[in-house]
Amino acid sequence: MQAVSKTYTLANGVSIPSIGFGTWQVQEGPEAVDSVKAALEAGYRHIDTAQGYQNEEGVGKAVKQSGVKREDIFITSKLTNGIRGYENTKKSIEDSLRRLGTDYMDLFLVHWPVPVNFKDQWQHMNAESWRAMEDALKAGKIRALGISNFRKRHIDELLKTAEIKPVANQIRLCPGDKQEDTVNYSREQGMLLQAYSPLGTGKLFEVPELMDIARQTGRTIAQVALRWSLQRGYNPLPKSITPKRIKENLDVYGFELTKEQMDRINALEGVVGYSADPDHITW
Ligand code: NDP
Repeated sequence: MQAVSKTYTLANGVSIPSIGFGTWQVQEGPEAVDSVKAALEAGYRHIDTAQGYQNEEGVGKAVKQSGVKREDIFITSKLTNGIRGYENTKKSIEDSLRRLGTDYMDLFLVHWPVPVNFKDQWQHMNAESWRAMEDALKAGKIRALGISNFRKRHIDELLKTAEIKPVANQIRLCPGDKQEDTVNYSREQGMLLQAYSPLGTGKLFEVPELMDIARQTGRTIAQVALRWSLQRGYNPLPKSITPKRIKENLDVYGFELTKEQMDRINALEGVVGYSADPDHITW
């Protein structure tokens, strides 16, 4: 079994396994239970879900059935776009805990900064949600607070009222989509970068440069992309419902990309398109 021995330490001292298992588009029910169980069996100890993925119950069941102790698993969920404000956020945290079958989440993120329904008052609504998240953290229901898809302008707004600073920003980071301004600013503010869609949601596999580096290293393209992510200091969250790939994506600690290989990947631009502009999303 490939143990995830490597961890990052978040700014508040909480330890987080350096690779997480992604669950977007994993169907609630047997698919969620089976894939998360396969991930835990393969050695993942960090599961990334969200209220919006509608699979928190499956994640919770898999955790219970896996036999792995709850305290050995890092669970992230996210506040969905339809919910903002103090009371609604407080209730939705309770709902997530109930669906996950746990009394705490390790990390809870604001999923998007500017939900379509709160476009005119996102600053205030995020501030109120954050206050509920801070209270949940103080009550021991969440161990760390973070954000997702936030760019500098959204971070600055949040920091105007936040008492507890976010310790992670989860954004799309993969070869060709490096979001350097957001990465640098998030780091200046003490946040870990969680790399979502580290395989470009499955679109990276035809990129000639990656095919070439995979040949050079005797690794797969997925492994090369994940290794690149780790070597840039990100926390990649690969998703798969295929047991063989679930294992493959964790087997990335035993090799290293050379500086030349890293430079070649760093030079890629837009090979799988760019991240959605969070100010103009329609959800
Ligand atoms: P990924 O970049 O992880 O790619 C997943 C796709 O690649 C699936 O089609 C999967 O197929 C395929 N795949 C996985 N491993 C391999 C492999 N070794 N070889 C070949 N194909 C492979 O996609 P996501 O966009 O899902 O991102 C990962 C996670 O990041 C999400 O699941 C979610 O947890 C998080 N995320 C967060 C967002 C946010 O707004 N905060 C937004 C998007 C994602 P299959 O499953 O069929 O095996």
